[in-house]
Amino acid sequence: MSPERHQRAVEILETKTGLEYSDDVEHTREWADALAAADDEGVDAAPLIVNIELPGFAPQGIRDLVTGLADDLASRDGIAAAEVFLIRTCRVCGCTDMEACLGGCWWPSPTDDICSACTPASGGVR
Ligand SMILES: [Zn+2]
Ligand SMILES: [Zn+2]
Repeated sequence: MSPERHQRAVEILETKTGLEYSDDVEHTREWADALAAADDEGVDAAPLIVNIELPGFAPQGIRDLVTGLADDLASRDGIAAAEVFLIRTCRVCGCTDMEACLGGCWWPSPTDDICSACTPASGGVR
């Protein structure tokens, strides 16, 4: 148990039950309840890193909005950082490098975010 969690449990115990913390108290039900309460508060939880993925074709306005949201998140307790990632996403079917279309697809154009399965001119895979 971390010192922080122990400390918090002692506080909860003493404010809730009026009991004073001692070694004997650790054998009581009240102590178990205080520990559970400290757990509920997430005292031990490691700060989170939040990753937000956005399609690469998202308009600038949306990107700014989401970036602002990420900054806001990063300033909250329990969140260490929030990052926005632009993921190249087919603007027709929504597939990405991580999740290609059934049967596989590729990017016929270096600039246009449309995959081969959605580009009839490329001869498609289906
Ligand atoms: Zn596609
Ligand atoms: Zn695709």
